Amino acid sequence: MLLILDMDETLITNKTLKFRESIEQITNEDAVETVFKEERIAIFQREYLKEFLQFVFNQFKYVALWSSANKSWIKHVIDNTILSEYENKFIFIWSGEKTSILRNTVRYPYMTRCKKLKKIWRQKKYKDLGIGKHNTIIVDDISKNFVLNYGNGILINEYKINTKDNSLLLLIEFFKKNLLNNPNFDIRKVQNKNNWFRLFDEKDKNDQGNCT
Ligand SMILES: [Mg+2]
Repeated sequence: MLLILDMDETLITNKTLKFRESIEQITNEDAVETVFKEERIAIFQREYLKEFLQFVFNQFKYVALWSSANKSWIKHVIDNTILSEYENKFIFIWSGEKTSILRNTVRYPYMTRCKKLKKIWRQKKYKDLGIGKHNTIIVDDISKNFVLNYGNGILINEYKINTKDNSLLLLIEFFKKNLLNNPNFDIRKVQNKNNWFRLFDEKDKNDQGNCT
């Protein structure tokens, strides 16, 4: 099974620091201050990123990183975050160059870009590993990225600075519930999968109800 992860606003987010602005002024969370292309940029790792990466690299045979950003930004983020520990474990790291241009669709009448999974599936080296449409999952905060592969997409809410966020923890629970002990797991057959975080909200409410 192949899990493809988006990077910006899925695993991390960032903010350009203004003149004299310090990280402490904009957040009370852990963040790293970096310099990229002569700008001071703070990079924020999503809450539970460490636990999430540990889990997915244990449970998925193949994990990939596919960002729409350019290669130099991806490299900069990896070098400055916990992602560096996994850099050599990703089966591939793809940038915006690998996204596809989509023109004149009903939903997106103007030109847009998306992540077309066929680009992976048609390559012999990945086919030989058993990777195909039945066992590929892509996680992204932008739904248009999987407009050609809705069945394979799991939409995650955009990660914003200074918000309490347990989405990665909930995603671990989703995978545990649906994937573990299920070698034939097919993401395309999971109903309401883009409401997965709401399903957990409902469960929480029910749990609370039972505690009286
Ligand atoms: Mg993103």
